Amino acid sequence: MEFLSKYFKEFYTSRDILEKYSIDYAYLSPILSSKRKLPKAVVKIKNEEDVKKIIELMKEYHFPIIVRGNGTNTLGATIPIKEDTIVLDITSFKGFERKGESITVFPGTEFNEVGINDLPLIPTSFYMATIGGFVEGGSLGFGSLKNGAVWDNVLEVEVYTLKGKYTLNGSDVYSVVQSAGTTGILTKVKIKLVRKREGIEILKKSFNSLSEALDFSLDLLGEAEFISIRNYPMAKEIEPETTWGKWNVIYGIDSEKGFQLRDIVTTFAGAYFTVVSKTKLPYNSVDIPLENLNKIDTQECYIDAELSKSSGQYFSHTYFIGCSNIPMIGKQFNLHTYKINDRVEEKRLKYILDFKRKVDPDDLFNPGKVDF
Ligand SMILES: Cc1cc2nc3c(=O)[nH]c(=O)nc-3n(C[C@H](O)[C@H](O)[C@H](O)COP(=O)(O)OP(=O)(O)OC[C@H]3O[C@@H](n4cnc5c(N)ncnc54)[C@H](O)[C@@H]3O)c2cc1C
Repeated sequence: MEFLSKYFKEFYTSRDILEKYSIDYAYLSPILSSKRKLPKAVVKIKNEEDVKKIIELMKEYHFPIIVRGNGTNTLGATIPIKEDTIVLDITSFKGFERKGESITVFPGTEFNEVGINDLPLIPTSFYMATIGGFVEGGSLGFGSLKNGAVWDNVLEVEVYTLKGKYTLNGSDVYSVVQSAGTTGILTKVKIKLVRKREGIEILKKSFNSLSEALDFSLDLLGEAEFISIRNYPMAKEIEPETTWGKWNVIYGIDSEKGFQLRDIVTTFAGAYFTVVSKTKLPYNSVDIPLENLNKIDTQECYIDAELSKSSGQYFSHTYFIGCSNIPMIGKQFNLHTYKINDRVEEKRLKYILDFKRKVDPDDLFNPGKVDF
């Protein structure tokens, strides 16, 4: 792979760098982290010309690649699992332009750089994630209760594949969104904007029963940017100094008081991630229709129900930590598999699989992460 150093100034093969790029935030999962291999080399990609060059070289030398943003995904999406993988660090490929009701962004741009006031949704990792990484690997976040999931808000994507460059819009964007880099290199994305928020205020309310917490939350739908329903153990673990009830609703609404960013980060940023890191307990999540949410009523383990909307449907993205029984009252969102088949819903998965078969039959883009 030394030939790559002829074309790219930033080309790395030292052991410490390869170690760093062999793992992402999936270090939390013993199952996922046990699968990692060292990449062969790391290359920094700075612009579209670099992407074109890599594609040319892939065609000639037939090597596998993984594109990497800031590596904050928790699902092993940037862990190499095949030998001889080249990791492309795309974090220097930055820039964005707001025009009318949309924003067009180069993939390495971070949420911090764009500002979060008018984006329809942002991941709770907004202080460290790239926008390209969120589009390729994320799903829900602040704002998704009002505005839907990432795939509901992407208007257009530009992607480089071994069969050429594609500009996709309408439902064709599903071929790329949440595909974890398995269908090509995302070079540009156009996202809907929403009315500028002046701020988000975080409020908390405690209840003696789950049914009261649910009734209160259902009344907030349409008004809140996010709602998280936590049982006592979960709420206490995240914020030990607050007095909590059996069930607690933590919610964010638009406010003239500005953004309580610190609160947003400490209260919400990967709440399950924080609790699992502290307790080391087993964890998983289930997407539960709201009408079944009354069945999660226990204080014996940690539960966090994050209300969301995807393709017009409300549901709860629910984390269970240390629970001996996870109620199967929805669709499991498996947090211990890197295969996107296990989390992308059928309708959108079909777009990804069809596109993958067309542009990458040899599985060189993030190999092993999708069965097709
Ligand atoms: C504390 C914490 C909170 C989080 N909160 C949320 C949340 O609220 N909602 C949510 O959905 N996720 C959340 N996540 C996980 C989340 O998916 C990421 O934080 C974010 O979406 C990934 O951004 P990244 O730049 O780190 O991408 P990476 O992890 O580097 O990459 C993610 C995927 O995208 C691919 N990729 C990246 N760039 C490109 C490109 N240009 N072309 C092709 N493929 C590419 C990668 O190969 C990988 O498959 C959280 C994680 C943490 C640690």
